Amino acid sequence: MKITEVECFVLLDPKMNVLATSSAQDDIIVIIHTDEGITGVGETDVNPWMAKACIMAPGTHTMGQGIREMLIGEDPLQIDYLWQKMYEGSAQNGRRGVMINAIGAIDIALHDIRGKKLGKPCHELLGGAKKDFIMPYASLQPECSSFEDYKNSLAAWAKRAKEMGYRAAKAECTLDGPYAHMGLREPHHRMTEVVEAVREAVGEDFTLMVDAQYAFSDAPTCLQTIRDWQDFDIYFLEAPIPMDDLEGYRRLSEEQNIPIAAGEWLATRFEFEELIYRGNVAVVQPDIARVGGLTEACRVADMARRHNLKLVPHLWKTGVSIAAAIHFSAVTEICPFIEFLPSALCESTLRKELLVEDILMKDGVLDLPSKPGIGVELDMEALLRFEKTASEAVAKINL
Ligand SMILES: [Mg+2]
Repeated sequence: MKITEVECFVLLDPKMNVLATSSAQDDIIVIIHTDEGITGVGETDVNPWMAKACIMAPGTHTMGQGIREMLIGEDPLQIDYLWQKMYEGSAQNGRRGVMINAIGAIDIALHDIRGKKLGKPCHELLGGAKKDFIMPYASLQPECSSFEDYKNSLAAWAKRAKEMGYRAAKAECTLDGPYAHMGLREPHHRMTEVVEAVREAVGEDFTLMVDAQYAFSDAPTCLQTIRDWQDFDIYFLEAPIPMDDLEGYRRLSEEQNIPIAAGEWLATRFEFEELIYRGNVAVVQPDIARVGGLTEACRVADMARRHNLKLVPHLWKTGVSIAAAIHFSAVTEICPFIEFLPSALCESTLRKELLVEDILMKDGVLDLPSKPGIGVELDMEALLRFEKTASEAVAKINL
């Protein structure tokens, strides 16, 4: 079997808002074609125009190649070989960041092709499922018109998630820093009010995570606030301080009891190695595509396993990424939850419309997929519609 073409589709949600700080409103979908008519689908969570450039750009020498030109004519079943070829062939411009994020989309598509060719779901080919179902947690974003709205909406969403059957939810509690939703900023002690209100809304018998999204400038500032959270039974606190402050992460892990989680932006096992050795976090959170695809996510899982850590992947894209995360979680026993926002709780039109068949939660869990590959079918009409929205937006900017 040979790869004959790589297509990239940049998509945009027609309701896109530049203040929303949500990567769910744009997307890149890659489709890899083969001479046997089998196609593979992948997606990644990064600026889609940049990812497309990494894939489609031509190169002029051996260390600065574009991804597409490295793939054409290759056997898509040789996934490890192709990962290494893409990593080395793009090394002068890549090794981390958007190039690896783009390789992640390609890697997912290659796994999809392999599953379709062999007639098996990806989890069967990644070592076999270690569990009978996947446990999702609801990732909840607040409404932001005022502090009261913020607090009340998160508490109400969490309660609703519990009523829907979820056994866990994560509240985005981000009243400062680069992710402050719609620019709403409040003193740090008000984050405590939010976390307290959410815990009260869901009661004791419910797993609650908090995502601070880099709200605190450093470890001492964070410690001052989260010392008041020790009785809220927080499963993990995600991304409390800037990602490159690994010594700060180490302090947070050593000086209080809430497990610290991080890693959504990291690419390759090498960045996770640093996070684990220097940052000493309890939970690692690779995004399956950003880290370099299913291949690289499994390598990160091997490392996390050796350090007795939990792995709870970041996931904020469409059903393509959700499907990839489900296969990954199935084969990863140290992955107790995946981030999962059902269409009903989600604002992104892309998330709601891109797949022919939505991935649904039943009785609080997600079934193991049984279709070959990652098991999703794109709604091509919706995809082309979102692609048109993206080209129109670019045309407007270029005026
Ligand atoms: Mg997050």
